[in-house]
Amino acid sequence: MGNVIKSVIDRISDASGEKPDSQQPRATDFRRSENGIETTFTRQNTVDHQRSAVTSFRSQAPRTTSSHGSDSAAVKASINQVGKTPNIVFPTPFDDIYTKSELQILLAKAQHFVRTRRHTMSQLNYFYRDKARAYYDDILRNKNNIMQVYRKDFHGDPKSPINGRLMGLFMSVNVEYRTYQPVYKSVYGERRLLLDPEKKYRQCPNLYFTDFYCVHKPHYVTLVMTRPGSDADNFCQLYLIKLDWKDNDFLIRRHLPYFDSTTYYVMTCGLWIEVFFTEDMNISEETKLTGPIFDVEMIGFRSGGSVGLRKNLNCDVCNLE
Ligand SMILES: [Zn+2]
Repeated sequence: MGNVIKSVIDRISDASGEKPDSQQPRATDFRRSENGIETTFTRQNTVDHQRSAVTSFRSQAPRTTSSHGSDSAAVKASINQVGKTPNIVFPTPFDDIYTKSELQILLAKAQHFVRTRRHTMSQLNYFYRDKARAYYDDILRNKNNIMQVYRKDFHGDPKSPINGRLMGLFMSVNVEYRTYQPVYKSVYGERRLLLDPEKKYRQCPNLYFTDFYCVHKPHYVTLVMTRPGSDADNFCQLYLIKLDWKDNDFLIRRHLPYFDSTTYYVMTCGLWIEVFFTEDMNISEETKLTGPIFDVEMIGFRSGGSVGLRKNLNCDVCNLE
């Protein structure tokens, strides 16, 4: 029990960025914003704080476990490994995020969106990542070719569990309807790095659904790819919906063992699909397979600054209520 309490305290301390002080009981309204995450709670004294933290966590845990299919061992494991993973912020019991059952409803809405439109699965040969010239130049000159994961911003649904918590790199997967080539124009930057889908799959074979949203007219689905056993994967197992690569409405992998060939397909129906890849990438390793980074034409520029653009909460298509 002592370890559990300590773990929960560590977990809250990790999210708040502050260590508990067991020597000096105090009553404070604690409010802290870190990387855009704001946590507010009252600390009467450290012991009460510990007790209420454990109680709150327990009261929330069954909601997570019973309706979401996770077992209590997985929840405990997630608590115990916090503190070893400073880059990933696990939700506190006070955070207003979707439960897995709510996320399941959001997924059903995204599936309904696809299935009620003219849609087709289009073959794709590459994932790709469009960024500004300065971004790639800096990595090639100063970062030893390594694109490091960064914290997900708050773009999209404000209740998406990964916002401000999970670390990764976004990849695009949409293709042109007729040619199956990556979408010709970019909104993220004038330089494009192609990525080999099978290489990315082998690095991060677990696929999760995390978001369905719109800001203006187009709708977006956000998926997450993780390496089994990684901290990111533990996070996603607890808070996101796992998808089957062979059978989902967004991004499909078909492997034919007889021919030892693998083909990828992406849904084409006006839905934009973003994939958050939770491991670093080495540009030189990627370009060996796909060729050098090249220029693409830009059409506008999508950026919400460091925070990201908020979801349109009045849209009936992609909101729960
Ligand atoms: Zn919408």
